[in-house]
Amino acid sequence: MKILSVNAGSSSLKFQAYEMPNETILVKGVFERIGLEGSFYTIKINGEKIKKEVPIKNHEVAVQILTEELVNLDVVKDLKEIEGVGHRVVHGGDIYKDSVVIDDNVLSTIEELSPLAPLHNPANLVGIQAFMKQIPSAVQVACFDTAFHQTIEEDRYLYAVPNEWYTKYGVRKYGFHGMSHKYVSHRVSDLLDKKYCNIIVCHLGNGGSISAVRDGRCIDTTMGFTPNAGIVMGSRSGDIDYSIIPYIMKKTGKSIEEIDTILNKQSGMLAVSEISSDFRDIEAKISERDHKAILAHYLFVNSVVSYIAKYYVELGGADAICFTAGVGENSPHVRRMVIDRLACLGLKLDRKQNEEMRLGKEGMITREDSSVPCFVIPTDEEVMIARDTYSFLN
Ligand code: AMP
Repeated sequence: MKILSVNAGSSSLKFQAYEMPNETILVKGVFERIGLEGSFYTIKINGEKIKKEVPIKNHEVAVQILTEELVNLDVVKDLKEIEGVGHRVVHGGDIYKDSVVIDDNVLSTIEELSPLAPLHNPANLVGIQAFMKQIPSAVQVACFDTAFHQTIEEDRYLYAVPNEWYTKYGVRKYGFHGMSHKYVSHRVSDLLDKKYCNIIVCHLGNGGSISAVRDGRCIDTTMGFTPNAGIVMGSRSGDIDYSIIPYIMKKTGKSIEEIDTILNKQSGMLAVSEISSDFRDIEAKISERDHKAILAHYLFVNSVVSYIAKYYVELGGADAICFTAGVGENSPHVRRMVIDRLACLGLKLDRKQNEEMRLGKEGMITREDSSVPCFVIPTDEEVMIARDTYSFLN
């Protein structure tokens, strides 16, 4: 059975086609600069990369080109062979606790939830509608970034603010990166061969979040009402004292929108290092002993370590700690700093294994005598979407 896994952004559309249930990738690619000058798409198939620069007016045109290519490239003879399309949807509010088959009711609910994710949910919807039109025979499934965190209990998802903010305006912790936390925690549970276990997942990418997972259910996560909360990120501040906002507004005369943009796009590693939001650029400067690059790493590691320690306590101990996403999968330097700081809990890094674990490799990076094993697990949100979609068809 063939399944498509789709991630539609405001001007992009990523896709991956799978043969299920064996999860073989048939083809993958991305449409970029949709609706803008210089639009193009790239497709990878059988180790070959195809790039075409063509006008892509909107998502519907992108999906039309995609379906034509699927037939031209012999991935399918007839589009009816694609039995399911799984869509990444950023916000499911507290309505969707799992992935769901899309019908009119789901479409309007995703739209109603748009104020909670104004940049993402509308773009996700446009993608869904384009596929509903182009492949009407396929079952369309929405896989929410927030759903995995819906098992978090009230005493951890509520903020200590007037109750009306929650009941009237939906202000609560939602958490994000759910498909990644779900994939990684399931994978580690398989590696440990334990269904009932406590796992801390560190998704450290350009955006980053950490979650505490007990017996496959998330009990806490670092992102909150928005993806701005929690650990220090590439260009997002993570947790700050909210009083800084009115203070800086008064001092600088900046509007709330300007401050929001600064906290989202000009803070985090970028602001502290004054180099880049990309860890590779900052790490290159660390080797030159650049003070700000070193300082940015310390701020980042401090925030990661403090949440791991918090979740270790919340879970009552951990069976595994995992690192995933761009930084977690590829930076032995960051992992070493984090694990060395956790030596007081009995964690012992295997330095050689840690150096080797990068570029898509999966494995353990702690010594056999470490109190908690730590793993690098390359995340795979696309396959998680394909699995969830397949589950409705099987
Ligand atoms: P993601 O958001 O998961 O795609 O992660 C992207 C981020 O991973 C980039 O912005 C880099 O900061 C980081 N990254 C990717 N490769 C490396 C590497 N080899 N060493 C350090 N950081 C990396």
